[in-house]
Amino acid sequence: MDPDKIIIGIDLGTTNSLAATVFDHGPEAIHTPNASPIIPSVLYRDDHVWVVGEQARRKRVEAPERTVFSVKRLMGRDAQELESDIPLLSYEVRAAQRGLVKVHIGEEAFTPQELSAEILREVKRNAEAALGFPIQRAVITVPAYFDDAQRQATRDAGRIAGLEVVRIINEPTAAAIAYGLDQGQKGTVAVYDLGGGTFDVSILQLTGQVFKVLATHGNTHLGGDDFDMAIAGELKRRLREAHPEADLTRPVVAPLLRKVAEAIKIELSRAPETPYSLDIPEIGLRHSDIFTVDTLNELIAPYVEETLQSCRQALAAAGKAVEEIDDVVMVGGSSRIPMVRTRVEALFGRRPNISINPDEVVAAGAGVQGHLLAGGRRDFVLLDVVPLSLGIETLGGTFSKLIIANTTIPAQATELFTTYVDNQTGVDLNVYQGEREFVADCRHLGRFKLKGVPPMPAGLPKVKVTFLVDANGILTVSAVEERSGQEARIEVIPSHGLTNEEIERIMDESVEHAVEDLNQRQIVEFRNTAEAVFRGIDTAWDTAEEILTPDHRVQIEAQVRVVKEAVQGSDPVALKSEMDKLGELTRPLADAIMSQGALTELKRFFQDHSQE
Ligand code: ADP
Ligand code: MG
Repeated sequence: MDPDKIIIGIDLGTTNSLAATVFDHGPEAIHTPNASPIIPSVLYRDDHVWVVGEQARRKRVEAPERTVFSVKRLMGRDAQELESDIPLLSYEVRAAQRGLVKVHIGEEAFTPQELSAEILREVKRNAEAALGFPIQRAVITVPAYFDDAQRQATRDAGRIAGLEVVRIINEPTAAAIAYGLDQGQKGTVAVYDLGGGTFDVSILQLTGQVFKVLATHGNTHLGGDDFDMAIAGELKRRLREAHPEADLTRPVVAPLLRKVAEAIKIELSRAPETPYSLDIPEIGLRHSDIFTVDTLNELIAPYVEETLQSCRQALAAAGKAVEEIDDVVMVGGSSRIPMVRTRVEALFGRRPNISINPDEVVAAGAGVQGHLLAGGRRDFVLLDVVPLSLGIETLGGTFSKLIIANTTIPAQATELFTTYVDNQTGVDLNVYQGEREFVADCRHLGRFKLKGVPPMPAGLPKVKVTFLVDANGILTVSAVEERSGQEARIEVIPSHGLTNEEIERIMDESVEHAVEDLNQRQIVEFRNTAEAVFRGIDTAWDTAEEILTPDHRVQIEAQVRVVKEAVQGSDPVALKSEMDKLGELTRPLADAIMSQGALTELKRFFQDHSQE
């Protein structure tokens, strides 16, 4: 990242705004370690200074006439165009000269451009604090339906905020870029964006590497706020029923209901039901109950149905049938609602892209665009999912996957391994990435050694290997020998340097070779097990002479020879059946010495295969 060249991406939203850029490991929202990257697009005017973001949002209840939200609705519009919007705003908006409007707070008046500039300034400040250097240039996104005046106003806001606006791009285009859809060959994309107060759907067509907007449709007064209001209405109904005496018209009530309503809604995006409680000491009221996702779905169904109707209209306007859509992209915080996802999936008959955080995807795409405009290369992949499986090499060069492809990050997995040689005091751990069964066909990511394991018979040490991919896509592999507590670890960036094409090629190859790989893998595994079993039988032979009849011992020896021969072959099924026979023959021996831990491998073999 070059501070002199950097061009960040900014999603200047109606409800929320944020910045993103391309880091070494890929595009990501910019934020300081413990803070959210998301800044509510809300301003509060206090004593001639602006407070922007979360703090301003909290003032909305207490000082509505000094708190400005939804500025984006005012951008580039005149009083006449805003006729239906103005009554919905808690602050004062008046017509000004040249068809403009101004927001009046006390004695002061501000243009929408100046107000948006304050939000951009806050976004810029935040990004500078996180990155540690000044930012001069940005790509800013606007809805696809924004006209020239609205785009110009956005550009001016950027300039007022001290930013050189290198480019204004459409929000749906940015979202498609974030998913790398501009890199593809096929290219009709539907972008469904359900935010806080607005909904729009755009049908994009990729021509060359540029997206053309074929059609857009939506409702600038439909979004998460409506869902909050609907839930708040239901809460109020329940309160009235449970406490007919309470005065629900008191000014404290409505804002509290809305706050609880939003929390319920967000919780129900990941749980089928949620408890809630309302505590309003001002009217001596305490109430708690459960809210289920079924109730939520019932309340929001008409709104969701309207968005689907918009999708149908956009498709018609674009002259496209549902089957002609190659990709569906979900954008906006409200698209996290499970019912919204399933309804959109049902309409388009395909799984929508949801792996990138829906409230960050527009900024991420703008960040990618800025990165490319600054001369950056597109050699990253998006790490919101683990693109290829991650694992370690086990005996015989087999690849043991701990985290499989497309697991969303952060992700963690743990598995127990052991040693194969007596008195082994060090374990080499080789970390690989890929889809094939053998490490020779995968990509090597790193190597480290777990040292200081106390000498023990093979199979006794318990090496616990943990893979952790953090939210930044950084993989940490650690290993602990549990009996001794010896520990070691490394850090790697798993997909660094892999392009989308490379990943696709690797996935294709893994499908091609799946059957042959699996057979060979089984042979290698059986071979390893057989060798360990032979060693175990050797070690336990003294016991065998004590507890088994001579005839039984001869049978074991004969079966060992059969397995040794089968191991040379390439038929895993035949090998397994001979191994099973040996297992049966040695079972009494294994039972006798199991407690001694000597025939660990033999024991493990039986345990592993006893359910088959
Ligand atoms: P905008 O593009 O309008 O600025 P966002 O895309 O940031 O808005 O969406 C904000 C909306 O998303 C709010 O109504 C918020 O309540 C809603 N939201 C955020 N997270 C969730 C969630 N997990 N489930 C449902 N709604 C959510
Ligand atoms: Mg948005």
